[in-house]
Amino acid sequence: MTDRMEEIFDCYPYASVVETEHRESRCDFCLKLGFSGDQSPSFDETLYSAKDLDDKNLPRPTKLQKCSGCKLTFYCSKKCQKDSWKAYHKIECRCLSRSGENYIPRPEARLLLRIIIRSRNNADLQPNSIRTFNDLISHKENIEKDMKRMDEFKLIIDTLKVFTDSIYELPTPEELLTTFGKMVINTFSIIEDDITLGSGLYLDPSGMDHSCKPSALCSFAGARLRVFKLDERPSTISYIDILQYSTERIEQLEKAYYFNCQCELCSDEQLLNSERGFKCRSSDCDGYIERKNKECSKCDSQMDNNVFQESLTIDEKVGKLICEKYEINREDDCSRIYEICANLLNSVRKTYYKLNRRLAAFHRLYIDVSIGCGKFEELYKSNIFKEFIDSLRLFYGSPHSTIGMILYKQAKIEEYLGELNKAREHYYETLDEFIPYNNHSKFILELMLKTSNLEIEIERLGNIDSWTKRVFLVQTKRTNRKIDKS
Ligand SMILES: [Zn+2]
Ligand SMILES: [Zn+2]
Ligand SMILES: [Zn+2]
Ligand SMILES: [Zn+2]
Repeated sequence: MTDRMEEIFDCYPYASVVETEHRESRCDFCLKLGFSGDQSPSFDETLYSAKDLDDKNLPRPTKLQKCSGCKLTFYCSKKCQKDSWKAYHKIECRCLSRSGENYIPRPEARLLLRIIIRSRNNADLQPNSIRTFNDLISHKENIEKDMKRMDEFKLIIDTLKVFTDSIYELPTPEELLTTFGKMVINTFSIIEDDITLGSGLYLDPSGMDHSCKPSALCSFAGARLRVFKLDERPSTISYIDILQYSTERIEQLEKAYYFNCQCELCSDEQLLNSERGFKCRSSDCDGYIERKNKECSKCDSQMDNNVFQESLTIDEKVGKLICEKYEINREDDCSRIYEICANLLNSVRKTYYKLNRRLAAFHRLYIDVSIGCGKFEELYKSNIFKEFIDSLRLFYGSPHSTIGMILYKQAKIEEYLGELNKAREHYYETLDEFIPYNNHSKFILELMLKTSNLEIEIERLGNIDSWTKRVFLVQTKRTNRKIDKS
């Protein structure tokens, strides 16, 4: 068993908000999984029939209780309901009940109101934190000059004015802007096992600086955030997606957080050259071509100018495709993007150095769209998982939940395709990426059960003849047809 990682923070948010789509399946205060109304529990009961694990250790989803005032928020316990009431819901509830039209402002507006209420009334609710709300940076001057942010701010304020009218007096515009700044600069996305549940403001963790090569890892269980050390460097986390070129990262950080990244990665010229390097075409050389002189870092061979121009064209195409899928966020277009990816795959493989960050982003996109449109066999045969995971281990460090989730997808596809030994191996590797810092979340417990069930299946298959084995595999495929798209 791997050693536990050193924990830096373990805390609950100063204020948080649940995403609209999870509003009826998560506690409004702690974001714990539950169910409301007649909706059935959102986990697979059959997983829990395994006899070799003690059933009592498995978390059961709680029936969520509706707030009797607004009838729009749900809680996992009396305690959460009380704490929420004290922190902000007493006021929020009156605003919500007034309209009687099931109207709920969008999450950003709700979060801002919650932060305002908390910062005014109950500063003492987080006695264990070192930082206070006053310590948070607002970047107010930068925001005032940022047209896009100011538009966003005005929209939220207009919403809140209507929402709180005659019930709660909002602070002065000056104060509102400072609080808005503190919110957008310091808020974390709450992501539990690859699912974005909401967002929250955490006082102590928000003090951690950004690095494009972070030294700490965030792990959420509902709204509870724990941060662990990945290595001995001073603790940093990444505020943005690190599978981008330095120029893109720097631009994004400047736009969203108003600073110029000078992290150890962005200030290391050699690393910057390799993360956007092209593949050296000399046989047996695994070096990269530097863009500035078209020369290989390892064998010094020069890249032909035509080949270099071709590489630039491919690079640009891939960049556009990634931007289209994730920044413009065209969810509807899975099969179209899959076709483009599949057509590009061979040239992409010829073009990129194995540790090129855009190549990794391409791999991620390829996996997403393949799963999104059910191309499991094609994805399995492409062997992309291995290349992708190898590069992630270098970019993120291991163990890491990001690597774990990719291994998990790989294992599920292998199981679906009847490659049970491979699936078993990758389920175990998935566990290795989570166990050192994850305290038996529902996901981990289910994974342990899945692995032990697979162990039993593999053993059983070893004892039956090949015809029965084939019939069995066809059945397994049928029952596994619903592979998670997440
Ligand atoms: Zn709760
Ligand atoms: Zn209420
Ligand atoms: Zn950086
Ligand atoms: Zn070379």
